[in-house]
Amino acid sequence: MKKLAILAALAAVVAAYFAFDLGQYLTLAGIKGAVARWEAFYAANPVPVLAGFFAIYVAVTAASLPGAALMTLAAGALFGLVTGTILVSFASTLGATLAFLSSRHLLRDQIEARFGERLKAINEGLERDGAFYLFTLRMIPAVPFFVVNLVMGLTRIRTWTYVWVSQVGMLLGTIVYVNAGTQLARIESLSGIASPQVVGSFVLLGLAPWLAKLAVGALQRRKVYAGFTRPKRFDRNLVVIGAGSAGLVSAYIAATVKANVTLVEAGEMGGDCLNTGCVPSKALIKSAKVAATMRHADRYGLAPVEPEVPFRAVMARVREAVATIEPHDSVERYEGLGVDVVKGHATIIDPWTVEIARADGGTQRLTTRAIVVASGAEPIVPDVPGIAESGYLTSETLWDAFAALDEAPARVAVLGGGPIGCELSQALARLGCAVTQVEKGEALLAREDDDVAALAKAVLEADGVRVLTGHEAARIEDRVLIATAGSEEVRIPFDALIVAVGRKARLTGFGLEALGVETGKTVTTDAFLATKFPNIYAAGDVAGPYQFTHTASHQAWYASVNALFGQFRRFKADYRVIPAVTFLDPEFARVGLNEREAAEQGIAVEVTRYDLGDLDRAIAESETRGFVKVLTPAGGKDTILGATIVGSHAGELLAEYVLAMKHGIGLNKVLGTIHAYPTMAEANKFAAGNWKKAHKPEGLLRWVERYHAWRRG
Ligand SMILES: Cc1cc2nc3c(=O)[nH]c(=O)nc-3n(C[C@H](O)[C@H](O)[C@H](O)COP(=O)(O)OP(=O)(O)OC[C@H]3O[C@@H](n4cnc5c(N)ncnc54)[C@H](O)[C@@H]3O)c2cc1C
Repeated sequence: MKKLAILAALAAVVAAYFAFDLGQYLTLAGIKGAVARWEAFYAANPVPVLAGFFAIYVAVTAASLPGAALMTLAAGALFGLVTGTILVSFASTLGATLAFLSSRHLLRDQIEARFGERLKAINEGLERDGAFYLFTLRMIPAVPFFVVNLVMGLTRIRTWTYVWVSQVGMLLGTIVYVNAGTQLARIESLSGIASPQVVGSFVLLGLAPWLAKLAVGALQRRKVYAGFTRPKRFDRNLVVIGAGSAGLVSAYIAATVKANVTLVEAGEMGGDCLNTGCVPSKALIKSAKVAATMRHADRYGLAPVEPEVPFRAVMARVREAVATIEPHDSVERYEGLGVDVVKGHATIIDPWTVEIARADGGTQRLTTRAIVVASGAEPIVPDVPGIAESGYLTSETLWDAFAALDEAPARVAVLGGGPIGCELSQALARLGCAVTQVEKGEALLAREDDDVAALAKAVLEADGVRVLTGHEAARIEDRVLIATAGSEEVRIPFDALIVAVGRKARLTGFGLEALGVETGKTVTTDAFLATKFPNIYAAGDVAGPYQFTHTASHQAWYASVNALFGQFRRFKADYRVIPAVTFLDPEFARVGLNEREAAEQGIAVEVTRYDLGDLDRAIAESETRGFVKVLTPAGGKDTILGATIVGSHAGELLAEYVLAMKHGIGLNKVLGTIHAYPTMAEANKFAAGNWKKAHKPEGLLRWVERYHAWRRG
């Protein structure tokens, strides 16, 4: 029906074209004739014509109707460069101001009532830099003219600021458009379209946004670097602060592309991940898993044994794992790769100068074109009365403290129900500690779906951890943690108290504050990971929002490449597909959305589950706890929006969904891929199979059934 209507309309247009000989007006001669008549009319009535054009222009822009760009071209064609520019410049500012005022009076109060908090931040920004933001928007027409008018009306920017910035900001664009219009009017023949003047004016039209962008960029740089003196030459192309996951990768990339790079590390090479994070925790988790397997050997038809735990030996093995990996991140390795490694504390003195208090004595100053801040994060210690005297441990201190013990601490209190708290609780419980885990929220792994969080709690409890969710640490007295749940008080005596309530970015003590680099919970960066200084970048935990080794090294690529080659091209950090694994046993792994986030974001999803209890390999290994849960859009598309896997080796299984999401592979293709039998990875395929079953074409299958019946006769 719709198609027929469109065809009929087209046919009517074609018929009218021939019936009224409309072709005569679309020849160059026809158009020139019309222009000549117009010029005569304009010469006879200049004031009414100018006033009329002005009024129409104002009306069109004030009412946010499309056509302002065309009218600007027309102004050039009709009135010439000078008159056209003056006319449009004032008419567009007046029209824009009227649109701005209507939006302000009609909508602002309602919008403020509804989004007050969110608008507050925008208004605070506008208070400081409003004129500059508006100027940028006016110069670079990335946001349509009418949208700028309407949105600015909703903010608290002053009307007079809005008027003059609009007038000045739109001037360059107006001149370029009007000029293009004047050239159009001069075409004498169709070949004239290719004349240098016409082509030139249109090239200028295309270049205008880029020129404006360059001009705005230059202005912005002048503004942030005002008051600093840029060195004439630089000692380095890049200085990287911090040799953790983000810093090491940044320096590695810089050296690979032959930049002169210095990497400064105040503590141990390898940062948190190698020394106090991923590596020691995973080594401890493995020993704990072996202990649990011995304890539950009857699950495999063997006689169970209560493992002896020579704690010093366990911790020595943890140290050995760290020591074995250490050479990967060592000074020697990185110097071999061409990186100048300096052990010491770095301070940023100005946007191009880093001062290093060298570990071997003395200070060194380096000038550098660019800086990558990769200073990482440190444990948060909550302000609980008595904590300072409690001898508490954190992920930074517990490894050395435990390495000095012959026996595992008998009673361990773990504060915090996030991934680190959960991993340590389970591992220590399996190694024989009586662990009480306290979490003030209602669930462990708070970002996960309810069923996932509930399973995490069950898993911990099965290993003997006493999990107290909904309990808040109130105070610590003589090695007793007192936690409260409403009016109830629970006393938890401990031999070791581990604080694992989260980690905060390291933002102070190395020059960011003095320099005025903006920070919130992390260093404030743009999408390219640049701070407000275009030559200072941040990557890893200090940049956030994720706190993983793999996101740190992912960001390091963007930070270092943008820092070294940003003048040619900059790349926006891509956070679309980020995997995360909590290394409990079984593992909890997720990529993309879960049900909670989909609901928060108002995304309608279909949830497909496959339970590991059905999987041959899981049954053979007695590893049937867990499931695969895949989210696809409601409505039957097979696009993977997210996957949560709980199970043995879930972190490895997740890789298939990470790859699929990154490259736009849907569940149909996962289902059509051969997975070796019997593997845990088959669970991914069976989840895809469950999705397919839910979408089988019932109607068609009924016909196929009839066909088979007919074939049987
Ligand atoms: C117990 C635990 C377990 C974890 N497990 C995992 C896991 O399984 N998987 C995972 O992906 N992530 C895990 N993480 C997180 C991971 O360790 C971090 O996300 C990662 O180390 C961040 O790397 P980074 O380079 O940003 O910072 P860091 O590794 O913290 O490195 C920053 C470095 O900068 C140095 N530095 C700071 N300021 C200065 C200065 N002014 N001058 C010179 N040097 C400076 C510091 O000494 C530090 O070495 C875990 C963390 C912990 C605590």
